[in-house]
Amino acid sequence: MQKETIATHYGYDTKTGPGAMAVPIYQTTAYDFGSAEAAAARFALEDPGHIYTRLGNPTTDVLESRIAALEEGSASIVTASGQSAIFYSIANLAAVGDNIVVAKKIYGGTMVLFIHTLKRFGIEARVFDSDSADDLENLIDDKTRAIFFETLSNPQIAIPNFKKIVEIADKHGVVTIADNTVPTPIIFQPLNHGIDVVVHSASKYICGQGLSLAGAVVASKNLNAKLVGNARYAHFNEPDESYHGLVYAQMADKFDIYTLRMRVALVRDIGATISPFNSWQLIQGLETLSVRIERHSQNARKIAEFLNSHKHVKRVTYPALKSDPEHEKAQKYFAGGMASGLMCFETDSYERAVKMLGKVKLFKIVVNIGDSKSLITHPASTTHQQLSSEELIKAGITKELIRISVGLENADDLIADLAQALE
Ligand SMILES: *Cc1c(COP(=O)(O)O)cnc(C)c1O
Repeated sequence: MQKETIATHYGYDTKTGPGAMAVPIYQTTAYDFGSAEAAAARFALEDPGHIYTRLGNPTTDVLESRIAALEEGSASIVTASGQSAIFYSIANLAAVGDNIVVAKKIYGGTMVLFIHTLKRFGIEARVFDSDSADDLENLIDDKTRAIFFETLSNPQIAIPNFKKIVEIADKHGVVTIADNTVPTPIIFQPLNHGIDVVVHSASKYICGQGLSLAGAVVASKNLNAKLVGNARYAHFNEPDESYHGLVYAQMADKFDIYTLRMRVALVRDIGATISPFNSWQLIQGLETLSVRIERHSQNARKIAEFLNSHKHVKRVTYPALKSDPEHEKAQKYFAGGMASGLMCFETDSYERAVKMLGKVKLFKIVVNIGDSKSLITHPASTTHQQLSSEELIKAGITKELIRISVGLENADDLIADLAQALE
């Protein structure tokens, strides 16, 4: 099945139940086991039936199977938000005393989680330059449990050196995690490039209209092989006392053990679970993802070309532009010349950047991306405000930088709005 078909049909059979064409919303907290034996079999992971919605739900199952199939992964877990997906993805690998190596160009919220919050959990985040990955190998030691980066970074719009990162990670047996929120699997499928885990803020393009928060974690078909017998991941290879001595590595012939452990231990204990209604809304979003991403990319390219020749714009960062330093990587990795709807530009002064936000009419001042409606933001004063000046420079954010998320309106109307706001 191709992506458009997966997004519309995968994991749901209209021949079940009354034949509803739309995936039903199973708005329920719990499930009738029917018998004590059936209940015991479910807890023992012998019967895949449901236990309690914190751990899984039939509506959410459909969404998880579609996202896993779109990323060509082996299994996925959908969560309450992108942030919880990212937290789970790391907490499933690292514990107190361990470290992770993270790209310097990532979403501000993720960086704060890594640098400040995980530090209080005893997990150290070491920052590397994902553009070149030249410094990556030196940062890895025996305690390194994950390498994290974004496939098209928000807000810097950078594309990592995937090949080199994967080579180094595989050499050292370290798990790679890629946040694929901005390209989405329509433009780029990280698992097909040797990356081990994909995470998403599904609140963005997958939802598509700024309606619901959600996150997703998808594991590669090769991840079991990387975890089994790997001394870095002893907790997958030794009995889990919190689950009556379950050894995940021994389940590798039946389960994807990365998402299995995440579900039965982390999702169970932490419970950042998506509501069935939000899962249903994301199922609607997925059905139009491919057409939306195409249009977001077309509109964004037109706007990038306009901004690129504007007298008050110093620099435009959009990888579909020939002049962009990331253009070659975009050509190599991204499908159909698309680069999604996110771009950055620098105005000729800080004053103009601030004034511009006051003058736009169609573009709304919103710290979100991936909406059908066009959005504009000034990262230095909002999403990245909690970072110090030094951290800002490290993250590649200048005070003149403006980020826009190009929506699905008419591109000429959007250009006219930006033109009047830049005067
Ligand atoms: C928004 C975003 C997140 C956080 O996701 P939420 O769904 O808002 O929790 C993480 N990574 C990227 C790239 C994002 O854009």
